[in-house]
Amino acid sequence: MAQNNAMVRKGKCLNIGNCNKANSKEIVDVNIGEDFVCPDCGGDLVEVKAVKSSLGLIIGGIVLAWPLLAQASISS
Ligand SMILES: [Zn+2]
Repeated sequence: MAQNNAMVRKGKCLNIGNCNKANSKEIVDVNIGEDFVCPDCGGDLVEVKAVKSSLGLIIGGIVLAWPLLAQASISS
């Protein structure tokens, strides 16, 4: 459900050199209400916007809607 996603913030640790998650550029999920810090080194996280997934949703929506649009233009 999309509701589950809204309960999680995605963050990236920038403590490169001192933190495994920063070194591997891992995206960390932090539940809303919890401290927005790296679980590995405890440093502040930088929030990551879920650009890829929303772009995927848009593309997926176009792909899904395309046959309907094509059908509508043929029949009209
Ligand atoms: Zn870290």
